[in-house]
Amino acid sequence: MNVILGISAAEGIGIGKAFVLPDEQERKIPKRKISAQEVNLEWQRLTDACSQVQKEFSDFLSTKDITKDQREVLETYQLMLSDPVFMKELQDFFSKKLLNIEYSLDFKVREYADMLRNSHNGYLAERAQDIEDVFNRVLDILLDYHPFDIWLVPDGAVIIGRSMKTSDTVILGKRKIAGLALTEGSSACHVAILAKSYGIPVVVGIEDAANLAQNGETIVVDGNIGELIIHPDAATLTSANAKIVSEQKYRVNLQKFKDVPAKTEDGTVFKLYANIGTPEEAQIALDNGADGIGLFRTEFLFMNSAQKFSKQSSSSYTNSMSEDAQFEAYKRVLQIMGDKPVTIRTLDAGGDKIVEGSDLPAVSEKNPLMGLRAIRMSLYCPSVFRTQLRALYRASVYGNLRIMLPLITDVSQVETALGIAKGIRISLKEDNIPFDPDVPIGIMVETAAAAICADCLAPYSKFFSLGTNDLTQYVLGVDRENQAVNPLYNEFSLAVLRMIKNTILNAEKFNIPLSVCGEMAGNKESAVVLAGMGVRNLSMIPKQIPVIKEMLSHFSIKELENLSNRSVF
Ligand code: PEP
Ligand code: MG
Repeated sequence: MNVILGISAAEGIGIGKAFVLPDEQERKIPKRKISAQEVNLEWQRLTDACSQVQKEFSDFLSTKDITKDQREVLETYQLMLSDPVFMKELQDFFSKKLLNIEYSLDFKVREYADMLRNSHNGYLAERAQDIEDVFNRVLDILLDYHPFDIWLVPDGAVIIGRSMKTSDTVILGKRKIAGLALTEGSSACHVAILAKSYGIPVVVGIEDAANLAQNGETIVVDGNIGELIIHPDAATLTSANAKIVSEQKYRVNLQKFKDVPAKTEDGTVFKLYANIGTPEEAQIALDNGADGIGLFRTEFLFMNSAQKFSKQSSSSYTNSMSEDAQFEAYKRVLQIMGDKPVTIRTLDAGGDKIVEGSDLPAVSEKNPLMGLRAIRMSLYCPSVFRTQLRALYRASVYGNLRIMLPLITDVSQVETALGIAKGIRISLKEDNIPFDPDVPIGIMVETAAAAICADCLAPYSKFFSLGTNDLTQYVLGVDRENQAVNPLYNEFSLAVLRMIKNTILNAEKFNIPLSVCGEMAGNKESAVVLAGMGVRNLSMIPKQIPVIKEMLSHFSIKELENLSNRSVF
């Protein structure tokens, strides 16, 4: 038995068989000159690789559970693979330049995709991603490159490795994973946030995690105390199982809070909302007694749908998020929630949330968290933003929608976004498409700029939602993903609390609703402080809703104020 100490990033205890994550190698495209004699041989390699991909598609097309959408996508892919115009252009380039076939193919695919993206035609721009998807499969075969497929992880596994991609973690919601043990990451990173909402315990900061266990070895992940046990002895296993049973009992007990309003001992009512990343979680939110959705992170929806065609993930495959696909997803959440408010955040792509399979540009940044992320990305790619807003407005007639803009730092960003939203409303009206013209548009306060200038932003915002995860990161200048600086990531630091206080005071002054949707809202200790500071709307992962309801029921408002005064001043 080997006990390794790490840091707790998501609570709970899991027991399972180790699945060691392979270190992701990068797909590198070599560039080399070839001789005229090699031309035929190289071309033959390409046609063989294309035939192999064609066959994969045909095999998949002949499976019986294929959906109409999947069929359409794969048939389009097959046509692209044999497009005579593209193949002729590639052959001309390749035989004239005498550059190896991998390089030539990659060069021509990028050139073609860029041309489609710059065509200013929505349909053609969407095809750019398709063409890259199709020929990247061919490139993988030519390069003998095997990208890791998260669907290979068996149910019941404990995933152990150096780091995990956010886009891979999104998939874990559809699986039964017992735990995560990683070297990198922190409790505020999106991998941990997602795992928490799926009920997966996470321990981070495990030194050399990838080399600690073999595939199939039994592992206990204790996310409550940040411990990893490899090869547990019988007594340890019995005790871990007992803790799992007691956790389940605690959860069942909390069910009594489901249908009662959240209120303090002396009757002050709170609204507890849910943070979700997929439409399916809306039902989980209701089952946990949510008063609405306080944050729908739509980027996870995009990541989910961007999963490439794969034998394991065949049932999840769809094309990138078209307006219709988005509309259906938003409509579903609104319908599930009935007349309860649903706050949908526009795409917060960038940073650690790389969205593939959409028409966003693939940017390479030295400092992604400071870079083209969230509203910056949306305003940089207005066609993607417009598509999302159109889908949102179309869905607005199905419930009580609020639209939220992430990572605002400046009034001009809000003005521009509001201008674009106005344009969408005009065009929907012209097209006789029903929508709610009064959908409130509010902002996330999650940068120091927004918190300090909350008074300037308030006149342009119908509501504020404090994103304390990013606020902490940006106020303290501490990367929320970076394990090495994690001890400095302190949501209770005076600087962060003063930013929160300033935002609350300005929301009150300008009479606009305020909520908190960062992790602080769903954590008992920090929720106490927020409540004492005057916050009455908290949004959190669904399973924390009954926990926070129970916690609030033990305090009077005066007690909460006293506790928070001690922290803030
Ligand atoms: C936040 O920053 O607090 C937040 C809720 O947004 P995200 O965690 O998605 O960045
Ligand atoms: Mg944020």
